[in-house]
Amino acid sequence: MPESRVPFVAGNWKMYKTIAETESYVPALVAKLPVGKPVDIGLCVPFTDLAAAVAAVGDSEVRVLAQNMHQAPEGAFTGEIAAPMLLELGVHGVVLGHSERRRDFGETDRALQDKVPAAIAAGLEPVLCVGESEDEREAGETQRKLRHQVQEALLQVDDEQLADVVIAYEPIWAIGTGQVATPDQAQEAIAFIRALVGDRSEEAAARVRVIYGGSVNSENAGEILTQQDVDGALVGGASLDPVAFAEIVAATP
Ligand code: PEP
Repeated sequence: MPESRVPFVAGNWKMYKTIAETESYVPALVAKLPVGKPVDIGLCVPFTDLAAAVAAVGDSEVRVLAQNMHQAPEGAFTGEIAAPMLLELGVHGVVLGHSERRRDFGETDRALQDKVPAAIAAGLEPVLCVGESEDEREAGETQRKLRHQVQEALLQVDDEQLADVVIAYEPIWAIGTGQVATPDQAQEAIAFIRALVGDRSEEAAARVRVIYGGSVNSENAGEILTQQDVDGALVGGASLDPVAFAEIVAATP
């Protein structure tokens, strides 16, 4: 990874942890983090934990992210959360288009087309998730799927702002399955995603961070994170344990 791109490692807690658990997790994580390592660290926590997480990280280098947001700044959208509400809490960024939201909650590429620029405009760092299913990989459709998802979601983002997006390559078959992508598979898909950004702007392609997600743990992290185009990891299950998550952060080159 060139020095111009600082690694980004984020834990996605999904629908785990209460406020009390957040308050004990964060100091345990901060105590175990490698000192002085150039790496951006994020915790993507449930909405109900955001305020507690922001308070607990204090002035440590850990940033707090939400796991979704609505594209509108406010409105009659019962049960939704808007960017200004996240900002008010001191939230740094937001995960958008996670495959669980696409699969279980009807998240569409069309909505993401509005959500990604809305997050940037609000000053939130978007982490856009893309990835193919097992069937799509077996049918040789991986690149077609990635091209579609990346182009759609970034359609309304100006070229100058493309590098403000973190893109997470998360093959669906690797999420929560223990079946991690090989380092070669991760490198190949991430280089392809970088080239897609390069079709819009070479300068953005050199700067945009593209990270891998899918069954990363403290044992396999090192091999994946040292691939040339892999700029970090989005970690689900293994991030629930602060010690294991700190070990993954320490595995960044
Ligand atoms: C995720 O939820 O984004 C994820 C990658 O999960 P896991 O690490 O558990 O596969």
